[in-house]
This record gives sequence, structure tokens and C-alpha cells, in this order.
Amino acid sequence: DESLERHEYDVVVIGAGGAGLRAAIEAREQGLRVAVICKSLFGKAHTVMAEGGIAASMGNANEKDSWQVHFRDTLRGGKFLNNPRMAELHAKEAPQRVWELETYGALFDRTADGRISQRNFGGHEYPRLAHVGDRTGLELIRTLQQKVVSLQQQDRRETGDYESRLRVFAELTVTEILKDASGAVSGAFGYWRESGRFVLFSAPAVILATGGIGKSFKVTSNSWEYTGDGHALALRAGAALINMEFIQFHPTGMVWPPSVKGILVTESVRGDGGVLRNSDGKRFMFDYVPDVFRGQYADSEEEADRWYDDPDNNKRPPELLPRDEVARAINNEVKEGRGSPHGGVFLDVSTRLPAEEIIRRLPSMHHQFKELADVDITAEPMEVGPTCHYVMGGVEVDADTAATAVPGLYAAGEVAGGMHGSNRLGGNSLSDLLVFGRRAGLGAAEYVAGLGGSRPSVSDADARASLATALAPFRAASDNPYALHSEMQQKMNDLVGIIRREGEVREALEVLDELDERAKGVGVQGGRAFNPGWHLALDLRNMLAVCRCVALAALERTESRGGHTREDFPGMDPKWRGVNLVCTLEGDGVTLRHQPVPEIRQDLLELFERSELAKYLTEAELVRRDGPAA
Ligand code: FAD
Repeated sequence: DESLERHEYDVVVIGAGGAGLRAAIEAREQGLRVAVICKSLFGKAHTVMAEGGIAASMGNANEKDSWQVHFRDTLRGGKFLNNPRMAELHAKEAPQRVWELETYGALFDRTADGRISQRNFGGHEYPRLAHVGDRTGLELIRTLQQKVVSLQQQDRRETGDYESRLRVFAELTVTEILKDASGAVSGAFGYWRESGRFVLFSAPAVILATGGIGKSFKVTSNSWEYTGDGHALALRAGAALINMEFIQFHPTGMVWPPSVKGILVTESVRGDGGVLRNSDGKRFMFDYVPDVFRGQYADSEEEADRWYDDPDNNKRPPELLPRDEVARAINNEVKEGRGSPHGGVFLDVSTRLPAEEIIRRLPSMHHQFKELADVDITAEPMEVGPTCHYVMGGVEVDADTAATAVPGLYAAGEVAGGMHGSNRLGGNSLSDLLVFGRRAGLGAAEYVAGLGGSRPSVSDADARASLATALAPFRAASDNPYALHSEMQQKMNDLVGIIRREGEVREALEVLDELDERAKGVGVQGGRAFNPGWHLALDLRNMLAVCRCVALAALERTESRGGHTREDFPGMDPKWRGVNLVCTLEGDGVTLRHQPVPEIRQDLLELFERSELAKYLTEAELVRRDGPAA
């Protein structure tokens, strides 16, 4: 019954979140025929869950803001390990991308004089996040979809067919990227989740926009879609993954009841005045301001409280330190026995803002806690703790074009690496999606134009091999995918989680060896029509590959930086600042190598005080920065 459904496009975009949709819109506007594929329903991508906002230095709330300040904050947040060109493009282009969204129909919350309102967030020097209440991602997806529909209507007028140039394939999972003999992308292979029927796309360009890897960990804010498919597809296609040791544990996930453990509590709660307390009622974050941030954060509660009304003359509250710092602090309070009844700490906004203000600013949070935990956040504190939230690591790309090392393969959004260095600032993902989604669409369009008439073709042998791999889980089984998945999640949480130790990471690698072996014997029952066990069996191989990259890099990096904390190497080491750890697939196994982080251009270095740079750079780098002595 193996009649393959076949399609031909100029560009196939895998993922219909912010990055995928923005890429698809751009490629279509450049005149290409584009397919957008997503494994969930259209509109249900992860982007829809984004709450707090999108970071862009429009300067509406404080006119001192500029792309230079945003760039600086982004590098500080990433502890100077960011790809500096990506951080530069991102800071420069984010405002244009936000205004452009308004031309697509977005309606952001406004200031009193009618400009786009901007809120405070951790690590951002000025209020910078454009928002729609705490449902910003929904507005982003809504307007990008609206733009897709308007382009389709235009195409209908010209060709008689809505889908002639831009078609969405929803609930279709891609399992393989295909290449021709020369090593260039020739297409993609996947299956309809509902029918299990296989689909082959021929296309010279593929853009990965598949999001993150959170479902590899037990406690996560991520949804079922985040199984690292794009990361693994890239690896198998011959591209490299960088920075995989850097995982963002968001400081505030729900901890109770168990069924909702990990669900996100937006940082806006703290941005809008919420404070963290331990079981003694103490605002403990004042004890955790690291030296590199000392000058920017308040020393006393009084100063911190004054900052909300007078940010120019006071320093910001330490609750608004970058996420890695806050997550580690909470972890430590709990470990030292000062946690809340269910193993978190208290996040309180009820004593900080009037009830009606809380409901106006944080409607989803109010609803979420009432419905899921029977907690009224206008009257009592929430219990919160760290949750696996975002992967800084991802596919290595060219900053300007989003191209990977594989001709025809592009990556943008959370699946791409480099932009955020060792730690992402809140709000910098939504802007990243738009800036680099657009650039990926442009990059792919340029590449396709450059091919002229000669396009790579998919070989029958490749199609047959993809099909055989996808069918492999239908076999007599020694293990089931659910058992393996939950074991993997637990081990990653326990052994390669927020605080890491050499012995434990080694143990994790041994566990992964064993799980890899057992995965070969994983089998599922039933047929191909909507069979979640089968889907998970296929996702599992992706997660296992990704987890190995995370563990290998976590073992190798003997320092603590951003989203990678080694208890046995607690300090940040300038020698490691310049090192990216790069994973590639050689034969069957993942290998790891060191590669220099791209140098920060002189004019960008000069945006920082020398004394600040001295906290991050090596002596030799500082001497280079200073130039020849006068
Ligand atoms: P996604 O939006 O996740 O889209 C991935 C797409 O890929 C989906 O359509 C999925 O179906 C598809 N896909 C995956 N694998 C396959 C496959 N094998 N085949 C076919 N399709 C596939 N960031 C901010 O900047 N500000 C915020 O306020 C904010 N709040 C957040 C709140 C929550 C609860 C969470 C979880 C994250 C938040 N983030 C926020 C982070 C941000 O939302 C994500 O990083 C971002 O949305 C990722 O977008 P993306 O386009 O890369 O991927």
C-alpha cells in the first residue's frame, strides 16, 4: 500500500511557529513556492504560549534605549558567548520587525500617548518588551497566520488557487531531510499523523524552525511537540549543533499540584513587581547578586521598590537578574531547607499590586493558578521552582543568511544556536524568531535563485530508506517507547539538570548508551492510523541524540556559565568564554570538538567599559581590544 504522496516546492519550512511562519512569508514574498509543515494543528505552535512579550529597543518607555543598549544586555545575559553578529543583527532589526507586525494587523498594548507599551524584564536595562497582556505569543501567531491568509488570497486572485504558492501541511511530522549525491538538500520525508500515510517533498531548500528540546527533561514548561526533531534532523543531515550544554531552566514554573509541575509562571510577574521569598519570609535574592552584576542591582529592598517608579535614580530589584542566576538561587534556598511546602519558593504579587491591577496585567496567570492549583494570586503567594524552558544550543548557522553547513539547509528560531550565548534574556526569543525567520526566508530564496534550473533530485533509494526507518518500530518489542521516554526524562532531570557534577554526567552518558541500545528494540502495537506510541518511538531517537549532545558538552565544559552550572567548577573561566562546543554525527556516534566563538568586532567591544570586559575576556583579548599602546 506504499503509494507515496509526493509534492514539489521551492522551499519547505518545517515548523509553523513564529520563526517558520515569518520565514515562509518572506520566501513567498520573494516569489518562491513554499510549503509550511507542522506536526500539531496550525496555530498551535509553541510560540502561541509566549506570555511576557517581544524585546525591541523602540524606546517608547524610556527614550535612552537603543540597539546598542539591547546588544549590550544580550551579551551580558549570554555571558559574552553569543555569536556577536547575530546579537547585533537582532538588536538592530527587532524594532522594524515589531512595527512590521502591526502592518500585519497586530495590536500591542499602548502607552497613554498611543505608542506601543514596553514592560520590564530580567536583564533588560530599560522597559523593552512589547506585549499584549500576558498573551503576546497568541497575537504573534494570530497576525502571522493572518498574513499567510492574505498572501493566499492574493495568490487566488492571480492563479485561481489559494494554495498555489503557499500551502500549510498541518499534523504532518517530518522524519528525515534528504540530500542528493553532491550533499545538497533535495527534500524532506514525513508522515501524516492522522492516517500514518507517508509524504515525500522534493525541494532544493529546507528551513528548520522546529523549536526546542524540553520534552527530553521531566520538569518542563514545553509542550509535547518539543522533542528536538529539528536538532536531530540537522545532525543527521550533516550540520553541526553548538552550545548544547546551555539549557535555560526558567526560575518560575509551577511546583504544585504534581500534574501541572513545570508549567510556566511568566517573568512578567516579577517585571510587574512580584517578589520572591523563602519560608522565613525573606526576600532572598539580595543575597545572590553576583559580582559581575553588582553595579546594576539594588542593595536594599527600599531602593528596589523605588526603582519601579523612578528607574533613572535607583537600581533594579535582584528578582530581575537574568534567569540562570534566579534559578540557581531558588535551587539553593530549597536545598538549604528554606523552601515552600511543595519544594519551591514563594512568588508574591498579592501584597504588591491591587487585585484589579493584577487581573488586568496578568490575566492568564490569575486564571492558570485559580484553575490548576486553586490559588488566588491576588490574595496569596504562588509556589514556584525551576523548570526546563529553553535551549540556547542549536544548529550552527551563518548569522546573515541562517544557512547551515549543508547546502540548501537553513535554521531559525529556537532550533538555531549562537544568538543567545550561554543564556537567553526573556523576550529575546520572539524577536529572534522574526529577525532570523525573515533572514532564513531571504537566505533560502537567494540560494534557490542561484541554482538556476538545476535542482537536486530525491533518489528512490533515499525515499525507500526513510520509509523503512519510519516503519521500524512495528516489530516484536522488548521495550515500549513510553517506558524509555520517562526513564530518559528522569535521568536527564536528575543527572544533567540545573546543577551538574562530573560523576553524574558520566553516569548519564552510560544511561544514554543503554537507552540507545534498548531503543533498537522498541516496538509499538496497532496500525499506522493515529498511533501516538509510534510517533513517540520515532521522536525518541531524536531526543536520545539531542540528550547525548547535551551530556557530552556538559561534561566537557569545566566551568559554570549561563545555563550550564558545574558544582565542581563553580566559577566562570575567561578561557572558556571563547570556546564553542560543536557536536556532529560521525558514522553512528556524536563527536564533540572545540571551535572559537566568533570575535566581537572592535566597534561592538567599545560599547562596554573596559572594567566590565575585564570580567569576561582573557588578558590577551583585552590587550587586542586596547590596540597598540600609545
Ligand atoms: P515553535 O513556535 O515551537 O514552533 C515549532 C514548530 O515546529 C511547530 O509548528 C511544531 O509543530 C513544528 N515541528 C516540530 N518538529 C516537527 C517535525 N518533526 N515535523 C513537522 N513539524 C515539526 N519567548 C519570548 O521571547 N517571550 C516570551 O514571553 C516567552 N514566553 C514563553 C512562555 C512559554 C510557556 C514558553 C514555553 C516559551 C516562552 N518563550 C518566550 C520562548 C518562545 O516562546 C519560544 O522560544 C519560541 O516560541 C520558539 O519559536 P519557534 O518558531 O522557534 O518554534
